[in-house]
Amino acid sequence: MKILVPVKRAIDKDVKIRVKADGSGVELGNVKMSMNPFDEIAVEEALRIKEAGKATEIIAVSIGPQQAAETIRTALAMGADRGILVKADGAVEPLAVAKILKAIALAEQPGLVIMGKQAIDDDCNQTGQMLAAMLGWPQGTFASKVVLDGDAVTVTREVDGGLQTVKLTTPAIVTTDLRLNEPRYASLPNIMKAKKKPIDDKTAADYGVDIAPRLETIKTAEPPSRKAGVKVKSVAELIDKLKNEAGAIS
Ligand code: AMP
Repeated sequence: MKILVPVKRAIDKDVKIRVKADGSGVELGNVKMSMNPFDEIAVEEALRIKEAGKATEIIAVSIGPQQAAETIRTALAMGADRGILVKADGAVEPLAVAKILKAIALAEQPGLVIMGKQAIDDDCNQTGQMLAAMLGWPQGTFASKVVLDGDAVTVTREVDGGLQTVKLTTPAIVTTDLRLNEPRYASLPNIMKAKKKPIDDKTAADYGVDIAPRLETIKTAEPPSRKAGVKVKSVAELIDKLKNEAGAIS
């Protein structure tokens, strides 16, 4: 069984985001980019399934600029077997990404597509769901546990206020939540080995997908800055402020 893992090149999670002066988006020049953290979790899960002898090949796919090849290399250094880079400059919206992934899934016939629940740059949380709908495959989103048994996948989902367990039949789509696993770091020998692993170069046109944006960003703004706090001298003063200034207690 093959596992397809889409990996997005996104702003590194530790970078302080700066909004462009004209409000047209966030500053990307000279900013550290990394693999979307939920996608690292997806690669790790695929590796664990392969190491358990339940998968034979892991294919990492990225849709993005030439530098997205580095994101694929990271997945290969973690242990994925080969990559597909679908070159596209500028932002590619979830619908276009899902259409490209659908074409790749139909060509590669994976038993599982494991992907992030959301990309931390656009926070869309759409691609996995769209892909499942377009393929007509079952989906287990926000997974905190994945158990594969033959052609059945049991996915424990993190839902509001608790956990939900669903059983899917492969081929299926799984999207990862934070508690699914702790992704490994690539070792130096594996980073060296990854340099020799193949990455196929493709374009959206190869899959017959039009990636022209359908959405227009009207404005991007920083969240309001937090007001400075105050130090109180006593518990009585704290309670007085909570009651009479913040209205937090009555
Ligand atoms: P989103 O729906 O944009 O929040 O993204 C959800 C997931 O879809 C991500 O965690 C990735 O696994 C996948 N994905 C989205 N955009 C891309 C992309 N350009 N290349 C590869 N995977 C992507």
